[in-house]
Amino acid sequence: MIIVLKPGATQAEIKHIKKQLKEKGLTPHEMPGMMRMVIAAVGDTAKIPDEWAQAMPGVEKVERIQKAYKLVSRDTKKEDTIVKVGKEKIGGKKICVMAGPCSVENVAGLLAVAKEVKKSGANFLRGGAYKPRTSPYAFQGHGEEGLKYLDEVRSKTGMPIVTELMDPRDTEVVERYADIIQIGTRNMQNFSLLKEVGKTRKPVLLKRGLSATIKEFLMSAEYIMSEGNHNVIFCERGIRTFETYTRNTLDLSAVPVLKKESHLPVIVDPSHGVGKRDLVAPMALAAVAAGADGLMIEVHMDPEKAWSDGDQTLNPKAFANLMKSLSAVAKAVGRTI
Ligand code: PEP
Ligand code: MN
Repeated sequence: MIIVLKPGATQAEIKHIKKQLKEKGLTPHEMPGMMRMVIAAVGDTAKIPDEWAQAMPGVEKVERIQKAYKLVSRDTKKEDTIVKVGKEKIGGKKICVMAGPCSVENVAGLLAVAKEVKKSGANFLRGGAYKPRTSPYAFQGHGEEGLKYLDEVRSKTGMPIVTELMDPRDTEVVERYADIIQIGTRNMQNFSLLKEVGKTRKPVLLKRGLSATIKEFLMSAEYIMSEGNHNVIFCERGIRTFETYTRNTLDLSAVPVLKKESHLPVIVDPSHGVGKRDLVAPMALAAVAAGADGLMIEVHMDPEKAWSDGDQTLNPKAFANLMKSLSAVAKAVGRTI
């Protein structure tokens, strides 16, 4: 149930409405918009008559959301959500670019690549300290030590960092270091982990599950929002299909679908989407043309020597070239980079 407030609704009225909803066993979520303030009441609303909610002072109208995803839905919030991280914004007119190595290896390499991607226009540094590897014998990431490397490079470059959280037990430590907490594809339906990040107040980059439908993807974002964290960013990163030429099949149709169904920003990771270096740039351009709000790209000083995902990783020069072509595509679709 969403309760649309009158334009001049006062703080006292909002407080009163929230109290009344709580007394009915519902959880109220304030969803401020440019034009109107909405309170989304989540829970068992079936027995709550519209007239009861309508009668509260400050209420303009009451609407029912038919979809299973409520807080995530564009029916609840009409305007695009812009996630703010320091002075960076995800969503809105400007395309946001997150770039960096797959894994955090050492400070020197991370700093070198951070300076390069920053020079080319990247807004965020990405890098995994906790790595979800298919083999238990492969490099699993440096853990907290890797977070410290990211922190050091952030302080030297001023770039905010995006890094993955895999285990609910590491939430506190990752929250302490990360500017954006990434939930990887393999954990998109790890509901305990989603609830944990939902309790933090750090923006969450939610990657689409390997075999997740768009509806399941939307429902996972709902898990995070239902805990009170409304700063969620979708990331399409390719799904499993019968096709084996590419590592995954990058579902770019998910971009306009998610933008239609939800007010949350949507970014695309073409690196994991295709798994092959030469295909990253064309799919990155296509993602922006399709309406993505940003990109996540793997970049390493020497991709051949990368500890993970070297085959899909760009070197700084290839990344710089991509950024140049990107600016033309962004302009063509009314965006900037
Ligand atoms: C990553 O971004 O390094 C990563 C492991 O991504 P995904 O979860 O999409 O495989
Ligand atoms: Mn990777």
